[in-house]
Amino acid sequence: MPVLSYVHQLFNAEQCQAYIHTLRWKERPLQCPRCQSHDVDPWGTYHYRPGCKRYWCDGCQRTFNDLTNTLLHQSKRSLPYWILATFLLCLSCSSRRIARELGVHGRTSYRWCWWLRNTAVSYETDRRLEGTVEADDLSHTAGQKGQAQGGGKKSLGRRARGRRKKREPGRGHYDKDRPAIIAWVSRQGAVVIHATRDFTVKTVQKAADLAVQAGSRLYTDSASSYRAVKGYLHEFVNHTQKEYARGEVHENRAECLFSLLKPYLRVFRGLSKINLPGYVGFFQFLRNFRQQNAFEQAELLLQAALDPAIAHRARRGELVKCLDHFDLLQTNGMDLPLYT
Ligand SMILES: [Zn+2]
Repeated sequence: MPVLSYVHQLFNAEQCQAYIHTLRWKERPLQCPRCQSHDVDPWGTYHYRPGCKRYWCDGCQRTFNDLTNTLLHQSKRSLPYWILATFLLCLSCSSRRIARELGVHGRTSYRWCWWLRNTAVSYETDRRLEGTVEADDLSHTAGQKGQAQGGGKKSLGRRARGRRKKREPGRGHYDKDRPAIIAWVSRQGAVVIHATRDFTVKTVQKAADLAVQAGSRLYTDSASSYRAVKGYLHEFVNHTQKEYARGEVHENRAECLFSLLKPYLRVFRGLSKINLPGYVGFFQFLRNFRQQNAFEQAELLLQAALDPAIAHRARRGELVKCLDHFDLLQTNGMDLPLYT
């Protein structure tokens, strides 16, 4: 039985509609989402959508409601589904889990999850760290899970393998299905996590420029790629000489972050390397808003999803692509998937 059949008394459709209404408009007056006119009047309700009010815009002579041009626009599922799905996503559930709990189709929840992950990324695109920043890197196994050309049955062109791809020793590379992940952790608490193609000096420099303000203090391990990075007050600890902390200088927070990221990613039972930036970007959102509980995080997501500009980009998967704009993880001519 889907969860909603138990909690539907609490998740009353009319109350959800009122909640979404306040979340969308807050103190602001109603405004037409199409022509931005404030000249609007009430225009009845929908018989199939209790609580949803319709408005008439005198500017463009059309009607709209609270969901017009948002991420939830024209969704066949009612608001309780959306609110609960967002909440479960913030509890780090996989799309399959959400499908099961909600009683929706797996493809529906997959699409929703990716739209919502994109809206989460809208909070993270401009984040830059300053002060004292720790950095560490990791090679994570991420293959070609679920990548079928043109949809439908997978045409792998190879023998199917187990989801858990065996790792090769040493540093990974995107082409070897083991892209690198670099974490930048500020001692003030904010984090930036990059999924990158490899771990060369060039990549690390590019990632550092994006994540960290120039002139900040940077603490890392003794990897040569970090030592070549310019523009920061850099100090490092030498793990090969069993030196893990030297007074202030250590990267334990960055390593701790990976110990949280790894179990988070395990939930998905194997990743596609194309989707890695999205998963990592969403984890970054969860980390940076960790003071809030899962429902408050979900509220932030819904708030962004109700912004027509963000919703438009989220539907096309552009925000996750935005995290990827620096070509640190080039997708070999393959575009990021559209979630439609
Ligand atoms: Zn209008």
